[in-house]
Amino acid sequence: MTHHIVIVGGGAGGIELATRLGRSLGKRGQARITLVDANLTHIWKPLLHEVAAGSLNSSEDELNYVAQAKWNHFKFQPGRMCGLDRARKTIQLEAKHDAAGVELVPAREIAYDTLVLAVGSKTNDFGTLGAAEHCLFLDSRDQAERFHNLLLDQYLCAHAHPQQEGAGQINVAIVGAGATGVELAAELHHAALLMAAYGLDGIRPENLNLTLIEAGPRVVPALPERISRPVHSTLEKLGIKVLVGSPVQEVSAEGLRTANGNFIPASLKVWAAGIRAPEFLRELDGLETNRINQLVVLPTLQSSRDEHIFVLGDCAACPMGDGKNVPPRAQAAHQQASLLAKSLARRLEGKPLLEYRYRDYGSLISLSSFSAVGNLMGNLTGDVMLEGRLARWFYVSLYRLHQMALYGTFRTLLLMLSDRLGRSTEPRLKLH
Ligand SMILES: Cc1cc2nc3c(=O)[nH]c(=O)nc-3n(C[C@H](O)[C@H](O)[C@H](O)COP(=O)(O)OP(=O)(O)OC[C@H]3O[C@@H](n4cnc5c(N)ncnc54)[C@H](O)[C@@H]3O)c2cc1C
Repeated sequence: MTHHIVIVGGGAGGIELATRLGRSLGKRGQARITLVDANLTHIWKPLLHEVAAGSLNSSEDELNYVAQAKWNHFKFQPGRMCGLDRARKTIQLEAKHDAAGVELVPAREIAYDTLVLAVGSKTNDFGTLGAAEHCLFLDSRDQAERFHNLLLDQYLCAHAHPQQEGAGQINVAIVGAGATGVELAAELHHAALLMAAYGLDGIRPENLNLTLIEAGPRVVPALPERISRPVHSTLEKLGIKVLVGSPVQEVSAEGLRTANGNFIPASLKVWAAGIRAPEFLRELDGLETNRINQLVVLPTLQSSRDEHIFVLGDCAACPMGDGKNVPPRAQAAHQQASLLAKSLARRLEGKPLLEYRYRDYGSLISLSSFSAVGNLMGNLTGDVMLEGRLARWFYVSLYRLHQMALYGTFRTLLLMLSDRLGRSTEPRLKLH
């Protein structure tokens, strides 16, 4: 029987791995590759803040797993993994129900020879009182679209009834001034300008009150301080209120209360601080996990307790050698997918596995169409600080690299052309 590689999770890392393995082992008939995902389409997660603000129409940038599988010699199985039987080498998928609760697809099992888990992460609200109930999260396309619809509703309401009390104001609070929170704040400011330009001026851009709340002493705490400073000042120039050293203690329908006693009124509240891996990994047939449910892996990306199970991306606790783990970033998921594509082919040939070493190529923070700030690291250039249009160009090219891994260079160029044409025929903002 041909060796069966099952990849669970078709996100930034999983879809790249399935595509690479399909084009190599799958095409040559050396292995059967199956990708399992809970959804039918993939959208690159770093675009979700743009979906939330409406500056990106997710249905235009999504990738259909069924078609990708057909074009790249792998199989796709829709389903949500909920269990594992290591002795029998099978994974379990939940039953699927329709909106009325009628079972459409029964619970089932898929057998594997090699399993790759790439199920990503979710936002961690650290059990903060009221956060799960009153905050929105940006973990999936559905959540980002929900935020966009709520934002649009407020605009439409204010546009239709400009005389109603408070109609001309929206208070939005974002918890967490990491990359996601900062990028969302800048994107929302940009969306407010576009809404006004399209005539939805019941809420004037200066009346969109954006507050970014950070527990740590500075914005983008994971990046060097010299990047935090220009990011902070750009946000303030855009009129975004930035509160640092302000851990949120409680969230209610009316707003958020910080540990230092401030109350920030907000009708829309987004929690964008911290991550944890999905809950089902915690009890996965004895695999080792850390306190945020990530599966502990060896440098070969094999699970510490099962050599037939590999883990990549946000759901892997992969040591970097300095006591820290590889950060949950798209570039790490991409590097690990590239390494595993080679390593799993070597494994079939009986050769030793490759070891993963994280290479930090720097980080770029998009401040919407206004600018970007960040640093790039390379062997020749060292650590270079970038700002403005050049940084913005590098930022956009990260997504283009992901597209190239999935579609190849020629189709990516066609997609870029189609995006450019789309910009001249469609509104710059999703207004529905
Ligand atoms: C708003 C936002 C902005 C970001 N911006 C950046 C950025 O600018 N730069 C950067 O480097 N990183 C950024 N990140 C982080 C980056 O998106 C992640 O590090 C990256 O997507 C992780 O890739 P992954 O393959 O591990 O998981 P994901 O891309 O999260 O994919 C996980 C996949 O697993 C599927 N799945 C989950 N559970 C199951 C299950 N039980 N069964 C089947 N399928 C399942 C999901 O449907 C999904 O397709 C951002 C994240 C967010 C949320």
